[in-house]
Amino acid sequence: MSICARNVSKRFGQFVALDAVTVDAPTGALVALLGPSGSGKTTLLRIIAGLEVPDAGTVTYLDDDITRQSARERNVGFVFQHYALFRHMTVFENVAFGLRVRHWKEPRIRDRVNELLHLVRLENMADRYPSQLSGGQKQRIALIRALAPEPKVILLDEPFGALDAKVRTELRTWLRRFHDEFHVTSLFVTHDQEEAFEVADRVVVMNHGKVEQVGTPADVFERPANAFVMDFLGNVNVFPAQLKDGRVLLGEIVMPVNGRVVEKGSGTADVYVRPHELDLDRTGTSGNCIRGKIIHINPAGSVVKVRVRADDFGLVVNVDISPDKYKLLGLMTGELVFVSPRAATMFEPDYAI
Ligand code: ATP
Repeated sequence: MSICARNVSKRFGQFVALDAVTVDAPTGALVALLGPSGSGKTTLLRIIAGLEVPDAGTVTYLDDDITRQSARERNVGFVFQHYALFRHMTVFENVAFGLRVRHWKEPRIRDRVNELLHLVRLENMADRYPSQLSGGQKQRIALIRALAPEPKVILLDEPFGALDAKVRTELRTWLRRFHDEFHVTSLFVTHDQEEAFEVADRVVVMNHGKVEQVGTPADVFERPANAFVMDFLGNVNVFPAQLKDGRVLLGEIVMPVNGRVVEKGSGTADVYVRPHELDLDRTGTSGNCIRGKIIHINPAGSVVKVRVRADDFGLVVNVDISPDKYKLLGLMTGELVFVSPRAATMFEPDYAI
């Protein structure tokens, strides 16, 4: 492991920001710390950076225990949400800064800075000042400034948080490209699931100062460890179901939950169904379906998002359908439709398989 935070805890007064958290980043991996606001992502990153001291636990780089080392001694690069470029320095000097501090020789500095500026296609902006750059350009400079001194590790805290959607997407591609080119072990904080999934090799999902799940984006999405992860990954429908005779029912509708259902306690359970796991049609021929009225359609995107109000259950159900199906059915707001689940997920302690 290149970076390992083991059993790290941190309190601010009475508040527990991190509770015995263990996170690894294998050498050369790009790891995302993903979680809602206040889950402890930044605190963990700052402890790994040496900007904050943990109350308990250790941080190691390769096998060196660096828990008590200062940020300066750790040879890490940082990229923050707010560019933090030096305003009074040109782009060239910003990128060169870390190299001058490390006493690189002038020709070597010039070569390195020019190489990196070329990589981000900003070589013609070397003499500009940060105020003369766009947000996306500033953040590209912040990335290469962090990479310039060839750090062992790069830590990024919501690096694209302040940028608009298009520039964010572009910069994700840059980050991934840099990562593939330089193989620097990278840890980045985001609350944006799509960003984490698109860029990272491995995702650490955090909540209330604890790790909920670690895995590849596919692992975490396809096999969420618990209800929190399922819910956090976005826009999931939650159905209040009843457990009866080994079946999971929403009214008379059988929810297709995998595995054998063992009833415990009250016999009720939340059942999670993602919008793409629902079928929608006009006739409800299968019988096993929820009746409802379309209250909103968002056709802008690679899937069409349909919101259906099911008065029988007092629920609003989100369904994703393909643009082709949307055209074929010619759906309109206010129409009656039938929604049937193809797959559904439940978590302990409501049932066991
Ligand atoms: P966000 O995405 O909003 O930045 P986060 O997951 O990065 O959230 P942290 O910034 O690590 O969360 O904060 C975790 C918790 O610790 C928050 O409730 C925050 O208010 C608290 N906290 C962080 N730093 C301090 C501090 N210096 N003093 C007191 N409380 C703090």
